[in-house]
Amino acid sequence: MGKMMRAQVVEAPNKMALKQVPVPEINEDEVLIKVKMCGICGTDLKIYAGLYAADYLPLISGHEFWGIVEQVGKNAKGIKIGDRVSADICLTCGTCYFCRRGDFLLCENFTQLGIHTNGAFAEYVKAPWKNCYVIPSGVDDYSAAFIEPMTAVLQGAKSMSCTISSSVVVIGCGLGILHAAMAKLRGAAPIIMTGDSQARLDLAKKMGVADYFININEVDDVVAEVKKLTGGVGADFVLEAVGTPATYEQAFKMVRRGGAVEAFGVVPQGRTAQFEPYEFVLGEKKLRGSCAGIGNNWAEVINLLSYKRIDPTPLFSDVIPLEELESALHELKTNKEIIKIFVSPEITKRTKINK
Ligand SMILES: [Zn+2]
Ligand SMILES: [Zn+2]
Repeated sequence: MGKMMRAQVVEAPNKMALKQVPVPEINEDEVLIKVKMCGICGTDLKIYAGLYAADYLPLISGHEFWGIVEQVGKNAKGIKIGDRVSADICLTCGTCYFCRRGDFLLCENFTQLGIHTNGAFAEYVKAPWKNCYVIPSGVDDYSAAFIEPMTAVLQGAKSMSCTISSSVVVIGCGLGILHAAMAKLRGAAPIIMTGDSQARLDLAKKMGVADYFININEVDDVVAEVKKLTGGVGADFVLEAVGTPATYEQAFKMVRRGGAVEAFGVVPQGRTAQFEPYEFVLGEKKLRGSCAGIGNNWAEVINLLSYKRIDPTPLFSDVIPLEELESALHELKTNKEIIKIFVSPEITKRTKINK
């Protein structure tokens, strides 16, 4: 038998077990990575609960990772043993209608590493060498494990295409905080954040990512508040980063005539939100969506982190050993003040990051 490793396996919905499993075997186009850090994401919660990609269980989840290259397939180029890498988790076929058009995120055979194939809540993970990006030493260990969520934010920012002096509303203050930071980087003004957690709004305020922070529980009409702050016309761009029908309905009303709503928050499949087509036709409003980061977004996020154009570190709470993953999943479900917990297979004791 080959070498074994520790891994957290989601065996069935709500059933996770720390097991000894074989270290992944790589082919000529893959690399083996020794996992250093892997962030826990909302998608991991959904996989654990059997609400997302349940057909792929049993599975080792974990897709927000970085590690050290341990073994390199024969065909790999520009990557060597000992490199510090993150990997684009998108696995596409390259031959379907959408891939041929270059719309890889729409691939008809789209899967993601750590969501549909075994991921990084384990000592080792494998990835295609073409998906790997070397991380410079200037990017700290926690931010390196945060590259994947930031690529999704970057893709959303490009889709939204706000520019100098655009007014932007960001609904939601999880990843929304970084959407606001990205809008600020692009010169947007004003930037308005709305949310229902005062602790998260206060954190966003401390980070200085926006100009106005509205707690939706403290105002009668959040749409009216946004209108007030945008000269009565509404915002040029409204980015939804919560994922509920109610917040989408707010977004459709907050956007000015000629403006655009950017759909980022994932509403469970089958749920619908209402909007008034008249408003969109006569008001020439637009609605766009973006679902994940892919390809060169990885290089761009690494670049932004290297040059400190964006600092996600205030969002980081704790780093935990692999053994505590299941309890951390429960914690994330109930404690809304925690934004990001990382798992490190190399540590034995939970540690606070921002202390
Ligand atoms: Zn994620
Ligand atoms: Zn394809």
